[in-house]
Amino acid sequence: MLKKLMLGVLGLVILVVGIILVRTFTYGGSPVGGRVDLPAAPDISAESAAQHLAEAIRFKTVTLSGGDPRPGQEGAWLALQDWLVETYPAAHAAMTRETVPGTLTLLYTWQGSDPSLKPLLLMAHQDVVPVNIGTEGDWTGAPFAGEIIDGYVYGRGAIDDKGNLIGLMEAAEGLAASGFQPKRTVMFMFGHDEEVLGSGAQAGIALLKSRGVEPEMALDEGFMVIDPSPITGKSMAFVGVSEKGYITLKLTVVAAGGHSSQPPRNSADVALARAIVALDENQMPADFSRPPVSELFLASGQDMPFMQRMALANLWLFQGAVESSMAKVPAGNAMIRTTTAPTMLSGSAKENVLPQRAMAMVNFRIHPNDTPESVMAHVKDVTKDIEGLEIEIGGDGISSPASPVSPTDNRAYAVLASVAAEVGNGAPVAPALVIGATDSRYAAAITQNIYRFAPALMSPEDLTGFHGTNERISVENMARLSKGYAQVILGMDGPDS
Ligand SMILES: [Zn+2]
Repeated sequence: MLKKLMLGVLGLVILVVGIILVRTFTYGGSPVGGRVDLPAAPDISAESAAQHLAEAIRFKTVTLSGGDPRPGQEGAWLALQDWLVETYPAAHAAMTRETVPGTLTLLYTWQGSDPSLKPLLLMAHQDVVPVNIGTEGDWTGAPFAGEIIDGYVYGRGAIDDKGNLIGLMEAAEGLAASGFQPKRTVMFMFGHDEEVLGSGAQAGIALLKSRGVEPEMALDEGFMVIDPSPITGKSMAFVGVSEKGYITLKLTVVAAGGHSSQPPRNSADVALARAIVALDENQMPADFSRPPVSELFLASGQDMPFMQRMALANLWLFQGAVESSMAKVPAGNAMIRTTTAPTMLSGSAKENVLPQRAMAMVNFRIHPNDTPESVMAHVKDVTKDIEGLEIEIGGDGISSPASPVSPTDNRAYAVLASVAAEVGNGAPVAPALVIGATDSRYAAAITQNIYRFAPALMSPEDLTGFHGTNERISVENMARLSKGYAQVILGMDGPDS
């Protein structure tokens, strides 16, 4: 009897191990999305692209808060726009240029010969974030000098986002100069205030919508090829297929206040602290059973170390382990769930006075698995036992859901994945979730095919300059961007699918 039982258990163990191994070895065997043969792009000089970027960096198109630039402060934007006209004559001869009414956002249209094809919308932004006062001296090249040092263009905007804007214009110039005439209409939209509200892109998309424009694809900043990627330790390309939403909740506790010499238990501050701790200890749930995260894992599968691959291939068994290891790294945690970040706190204004009102702002970045409503419901549920707590939408009352997840089974994704694989020398291409916000979120009003990718190859070290000190991009990447964008335009210049 015992022997039979032992054999039964042994058989079961062998079966389970077998299933685990088979799933592990077959995991991520084929790429996510199709691939296309890439057309040859015109020759575009890396040196002149880099030189042009250096010049573009010298226009101080800095936005600090919503509504920037203020009336009378538009000079840098207008000068940059005049400079574009002078620098890219062939592109400007081929395209019409307009300014989105009431904004400094540019919209170019390169009319295609086949009006039945939906247009291609390529996006970048003209503005940059400020340089923190006192850090200018820490830069290798001064942030607005536009210097090229040891193969890198230094300056605010080199990566975000003038490098992409210049790459797009280099591609347009190279294609126009080579005599290319598109069948599919190509549009460029260069927002003027992405770093604050993105009101320019919002107005630009509304303008396109009013004209009945429905792009076959909208492409904006967001991801690139990263070598080594934090997921596999090897080169890997990421194409953003969704971006997170945003909501800030204001938590308030009102109490009697009074002198701190005879305090009650559970004052307003204490109740508020309980609420914050409750939110911290009860994070929004993670879910990797759906795209983009499920496809991100699948696309990385082949390049992962055995143990990681085994865990991802067998989430039925290792879900908890995968979740806790992802959650340990803030960037990993942000990828798998809606994040909870208490930011502003206020209570009493004096050390010996009890607060009559304690307030906290908690900022949530909403995962595609959640909605602003489900975040609110979660917060109410987790804090339901805390007396006197009121919850309302804080900040400017602005909340936005995560953007819809764009498909990976269409030609648009196949073209981007092919360009990305070439930039990454055959690196796997993974659909991914953009943790920040881009102008392209507004494009959801006119197309479901929104992607966030730039054909550049960067190291994690290169990316530290993003909004930070020593923002820079290599001359080599300026060649990749110019060529890659030209390949996207050429690769999309065929029938819809
Ligand atoms: Zn940007």
